[in-house]
Amino acid sequence: MPTCQNCGQQWSWKNAFQKYIKLNKGMECPHCGEIQYVTSKSRKQSSAYSIPPLLILIFSNLFFDLSIPVYIMLAAVLFAATLVFYPFKMELTSKDEPLW
Ligand SMILES: [Zn+2]
Repeated sequence: MPTCQNCGQQWSWKNAFQKYIKLNKGMECPHCGEIQYVTSKSRKQSSAYSIPPLLILIFSNLFFDLSIPVYIMLAAVLFAATLVFYPFKMELTSKDEPLW
């Protein structure tokens, strides 16, 4: 779980998830009110997490003859799983970092 770099308190999954899906630049820590940012390392990881679901989709399309509704459902489940998983790995920083 992400930890606030200002007060050292851990964020709940819900707080981290809200921050992640809004994709805004900073979010106030629910404990101390200091603005926190996702580290550039963590942001790079988040793009890496979308690769396995994509690969699974590509391969399932190659090896199994999935119908379109099944395929869309599989895609939705995989991306939802990635979204749910990501806040556990999120890291915070008090300073906004450039992505690269
Ligand atoms: Zn804090």
